[in-house]
Amino acid sequence: MLEVLKSSQQLIKESNMHLVFRLIHKHGCISRADIKKITGLSATTVSSLVEELIADGLVEECGIKDSSTSGRKAVLLQVCADGGYFVGLDIRKNQIIADVFALDFTSVFHTEVPVVPGQNLAMGILHAIGMASRDRRILGVTIGVPGVIDTKNNRLLSSTVLNAEDAADVYQTVFEAMPDVRVILKNNSGLVAYAEKEFGTHEQVKNLVSIDIDDGVGAGILIDGKIYDGGGMAGEFGHMSVDFNGKRCQCGNYGCLELVASIPAILRKTNCFSMSELLSYLESGDKKAEEAISDTAKVLAFGINNIVNLIDPEFIVVGGPIRALGDYLLAPLKKCFDEISLIKNKYIKYSVLEGNPVTLGGAKFVFDSIFDV
Ligand SMILES: [Zn+2]
Repeated sequence: MLEVLKSSQQLIKESNMHLVFRLIHKHGCISRADIKKITGLSATTVSSLVEELIADGLVEECGIKDSSTSGRKAVLLQVCADGGYFVGLDIRKNQIIADVFALDFTSVFHTEVPVVPGQNLAMGILHAIGMASRDRRILGVTIGVPGVIDTKNNRLLSSTVLNAEDAADVYQTVFEAMPDVRVILKNNSGLVAYAEKEFGTHEQVKNLVSIDIDDGVGAGILIDGKIYDGGGMAGEFGHMSVDFNGKRCQCGNYGCLELVASIPAILRKTNCFSMSELLSYLESGDKKAEEAISDTAKVLAFGINNIVNLIDPEFIVVGGPIRALGDYLLAPLKKCFDEISLIKNKYIKYSVLEGNPVTLGGAKFVFDSIFDV
C-alpha cells in the first residue's frame, strides 16, 4: 500500500485527532472542557480538532450542560452515528456475507451474495461492497476469510474452504477499487476473537481463544488484546490432529479435529439433516445421538486442553451453530476437560454474541486501525 510520508507534526496532529474522536466515541456526550481535562491537550488544540471533526461530519453538538462549578454553560459533543460506515465481509464457501455498521456499531445493512462455482470471487465481493456502500460514506472494509494469509502481502495462501487460487488476490482487487478506503484482509476466526473482546461479556479480557464450530473448525487467538496471527496461520485449531491413525484431511494431515467435530461431520455421524433434527433426538433421550455428541465433546476437550497447555488463555469461548446443542455438548465437554487438564474449572463457555461475529469484529477492527492513537 502506498503511504504518503507524513511529517512528525502531522502525525502528532493525527494522533491527537484520533484521541479526541475516540474519547467522544467512548463517552457518548462530552464537553470540550472535559476533553481538555482528560487528554491534557490545550483548549485551543481541542477546539481546533473538534472543529475539524465537526467539519468532517464525524462529530456533532448534542446539547448544553450547566457547569456546577463555574456556572458557565458547556456545549456537549457526540459522534455523528451516520458520519461514516464500516463494511464487514464474511467470505464463506457458498456465499459472501456483507454487513454495514454505523460509527456506533449498529448494523444498518445486511446482504448475502451467493458464490457460484467458476465465478470470480473478487467480482462477487465487489458486487457485495457495491450494494453495501450505496449512498453511504464508507471509511473501512474488512474482508474475513477462512484460510492462511500472507500478512505482509495481503494474499490468501491456502484454504480448505475456499479455492485459494481464486481467492488469493481479493484484497488487491478491493484495494484498487476503493483507494480512499482502509481495506483489511484478516482470518475470519481472528475477527471472531476480536468481536468477543470488544462486544462479548468478558470485562477487560486480554487473552482469550474463541473456537468457531461451523462448516469448519477454527480458533481465533487474542494475546494481550491483539489478534495473534503468527506467520499467518495461527489458530488452525481444526487441523490439529486428534488421531494420527485417522483419515487423511484435505490439509495433508491425518485425523484432523475438523473431520470429526465440524457441523457437517457431526450431522454425518448422527445421520441427521440439520442441527434441529439432532437436537430433537437428544431431547427425546436417543442414546446413539447422546453417544455421538459425547464423543465429539471428548475430542474437543482434548483439543482445548492442548490450547490451554500452550497459551493458557483467560477464557475459551465456543461459538457458531454448535451452540444449538446447549448443555448436551457443553456439559460433557467441561466434564472431560476437567478430567484431563492440569487446571480444573477453566472457563469454557458459549459465546453470547448475536449476529455475525466475523463482520462485527471486522468492522471494529478496521475502526481501531483507522482511529489508531
Ligand atoms: Zn486438516
